[in-house]
Amino acid sequence: MLKAYLCVVNTTILSVKNISKQYSTEQLSGISNVSFDINEGDIVAIIGESGSGKSTLLKSLYGLLTLDQGEVLFNGRRVLGPDEQLIPGHKGMKMVTQDFSLNIYAKVYDNIASMLSNTDVKSKHDKTVEMMKHLHIEHLRDKRITELSGGEQQRVAIAKALVSDTRMLLLDEPFSQVDALLKNQLRADLKRIASETGVTVVLVSHDPADGLFLADKLLLVKEGRLLQQGNPRELYQNPEHIYTAKLLGNANVLSAAEALTLGIDSGGKQLVFYPEWVELGTGSLTFEVKDVYYKGFYEELQLEATGIRLRSIQLSKDSGYKKNDQVLLNIGRFIIID
Ligand code: ADP
Ligand code: MG
Repeated sequence: MLKAYLCVVNTTILSVKNISKQYSTEQLSGISNVSFDINEGDIVAIIGESGSGKSTLLKSLYGLLTLDQGEVLFNGRRVLGPDEQLIPGHKGMKMVTQDFSLNIYAKVYDNIASMLSNTDVKSKHDKTVEMMKHLHIEHLRDKRITELSGGEQQRVAIAKALVSDTRMLLLDEPFSQVDALLKNQLRADLKRIASETGVTVVLVSHDPADGLFLADKLLLVKEGRLLQQGNPRELYQNPEHIYTAKLLGNANVLSAAEALTLGIDSGGKQLVFYPEWVELGTGSLTFEVKDVYYKGFYEELQLEATGIRLRSIQLSKDSGYKKNDQVLLNIGRFIIID
């Protein structure tokens, strides 16, 4: 079964063709003219600031919204809208929202098993147990949902979504309810489950760290539009928009005049560089250390010269800079953006 899935990578499973959905005619809300493809077995992350239209996009993929224009194709067939079928939502996909939609009085096992038919009781049992193992929740099988933490409930919700041979899992802000340690585990588990089962995962997050770690493809959404898409590494290294660089790596942005002050002629455009591209202890510029934020293995330094403020990231073991220090500085790499 595993092998069968592995050979179909790079087949398009979902095709989004120029879709728009506006909630109101007075103000811009929702999504506009969005198009992209998703390959079977990929993990795709939709990233954007709050209110940028991520949830609207996810609901559109699943068929929960009546679109103003365009269409979504799942395996080449149009996903029907809520007014075109009795039960909204496509059968080949499952969506896990932030409220999890679990039966809170039922046990974990029964929540998951309820998705499977009774025609083959043994298979129903085996699949349920297997899915609990995948999500590391076997030990919770006889607990009621009300007795679980937010992170545990999330795992049950994902198990429930995946158990009935789901080919595409849609997750809205899956990491927002779990603490840092559990977040790391959940990310790693999602990645493992996707590669073990071949399920395609589309997740939405306002925190780029979630997507960068996991995704085969990132989609950056701003004000309802798809701004940029691609491989996380490429997008990070070559952002076409300031929004992308700010969202993905908290980039420094200097105006053309500020760049000139530092001796860089950007041709009237803005200068963009990530904090880790700022080299200290070398170069011809002198900056003052305004603040040092200790972050464990690295430090974030706030630097200033002639009214220009920059952020730099240094490994703590190489740093040792203190407030009010004067440091030599070189901008090792930068990008010029309109
Ligand atoms: P995100 O998930 O990125 O935070 P949403 O897709 O939820 O963004 O919302 C995008 C925009 O559409 C926001 O401005 C939001 O206020 C608006 N919006 C979302 N849902 C509705 C709705 N049901 N009715 C009216 N406006 C909505
Ligand atoms: Mg949302």
